[in-house]
Amino acid sequence: MNHEGRQETMWGLGLNDPEAARIQEAVGEGFELRNYPEGRAPLDEIAPEEQPGTTWIPWRIWESIPEQGKEAFREMEHTQRILIQDEDDRVMELDEVLEEGFLTAIRAPLTRDKVQDALFRAKEVTSLYSDIYRMTEEIILERELLKRKTDQLLFLNRFLTNATGSLDPAEILGQALDDLNLLLPVKLLQAAFWQRNAETGESEVELLLDARLGKDIEAKWIEFLLDTALRNEGGPIGGFQVEHMDTKGEPLPPEAGRSVILPLAGPQGQFGCLALLCDREIRLAKDQVQTLKSAVRHLGLALNNARLYREVKIRADRDGLTKLHNRQTFDRRLAVELKRSQRYGNSLALLMVDLDHFKQVNDTHGHAAGDMVLREVGALLQDSVRSCDIAARFGGEEFALLLPHTHEADAWKLADRIRRRIEKLRYNYAGKSLSITASIGVSSLAPGCLDKENDLLLRADQALYLAKANGRNTVATSAQCANSRSLSS
Ligand code: GH3
Ligand code: MG
Ligand code: MG
Repeated sequence: MNHEGRQETMWGLGLNDPEAARIQEAVGEGFELRNYPEGRAPLDEIAPEEQPGTTWIPWRIWESIPEQGKEAFREMEHTQRILIQDEDDRVMELDEVLEEGFLTAIRAPLTRDKVQDALFRAKEVTSLYSDIYRMTEEIILERELLKRKTDQLLFLNRFLTNATGSLDPAEILGQALDDLNLLLPVKLLQAAFWQRNAETGESEVELLLDARLGKDIEAKWIEFLLDTALRNEGGPIGGFQVEHMDTKGEPLPPEAGRSVILPLAGPQGQFGCLALLCDREIRLAKDQVQTLKSAVRHLGLALNNARLYREVKIRADRDGLTKLHNRQTFDRRLAVELKRSQRYGNSLALLMVDLDHFKQVNDTHGHAAGDMVLREVGALLQDSVRSCDIAARFGGEEFALLLPHTHEADAWKLADRIRRRIEKLRYNYAGKSLSITASIGVSSLAPGCLDKENDLLLRADQALYLAKANGRNTVATSAQCANSRSLSS
């Protein structure tokens, strides 16, 4: 009861001298009994933690205190009140004692045993109260932790559901930025993917950057990502390309906050990294870091799937030798462009390109030489068209180019430019130089014309046939076909 020699305070309220003396004597030197006359106890001035553990109050005093005054005593939560009854006071039931706000009652004469017993009980109740108080505090803390865990689980659940909801990397990253903001304020989220070339050991890098960065800020991010993120993990770098994403991020440079680089990995290991731009002041608790890491782990798996899907799709949509669109893709796009041109009244042109005497290349130099020529011509064609045009390998040594918003005259100019470029190309194969020419047929849809896709293809084919008939290495248009038909009829 005596803490480091300090006395514990008890109050008495209106005790007479013999009562005060008996109590003080019974409790010993560890306690200091401060006896106040009724109405003088410093109830209002005392802080809760300074309240006395015990207050002794005779019934004769208590009886005379108005109800409001009694209430002021009852409100002292840290104090146990002990009632002292005179020998001739009426006997009170325990219920009544408790109802009056006392812990217990003792009756005069105040023997040492009675006083000590009452005090012991008061101390016991006080320590019980402090246990309960501490436990309550612990429960509140646990509840807060639980709420935090629940929030993190909800976040992860939402994050995972959304990450697997798309197979487009840009879309996945845009959604991830929205969702990550539930956990921490992220201003910008971008990514780098790399693919190492087994022969050279160098990585081809794809940077997924916010579309609204602007030229200068984008250049800073490119440098930052290639430098910081790839120097150790993805490098050395063979080349890189940028893909733009529409996200809700703020278009800020790397130095505008704290950049956090996190690895992106699939089952085969790391294939890229994520760059978050956060507030410089941001500090994450250990459990939040764990949550962030597991979110990014799942994001890595989702992005890996999206990359694989894209690869498979490219393989299905493209010709393996030339990497141009294949016939199926071309047919699909032709149907779409035809509808669009009819709906909006745009012109549309089509070129059919066929290599001249290609069989001879195979026969003279071998099939591999033929393949090389096809690859080079494919690259030349891709290089000759706009991004809205579609260049496809139609089959064998035949290529088709679909040119939206293009009139026949312009299509003819492009065709002739391509013809001349092909004619000029020199190929080296097994120490021998070879060259080739091409014949090109042009057909087109005038705005508002109701043509079928078969007709457009057929007319380009007929024009190609005319070009061959005219001696090859030449361009013919479907209009010329119509003229030659009308001349011959
Ligand atoms: P023309 O001027 O009349 O078009 O004559 P050509 O020899 O180009 O036409 P032909 O249709 O007689 O021959 C086409 C050749 O293209 C036959 C075929 O072996 C070859 N060929 C088709 N696909 C490929 C390929 O993928 N690789 C190689 N090396 N040759 C191919
Ligand atoms: Mg040919
Ligand atoms: Mg042919």
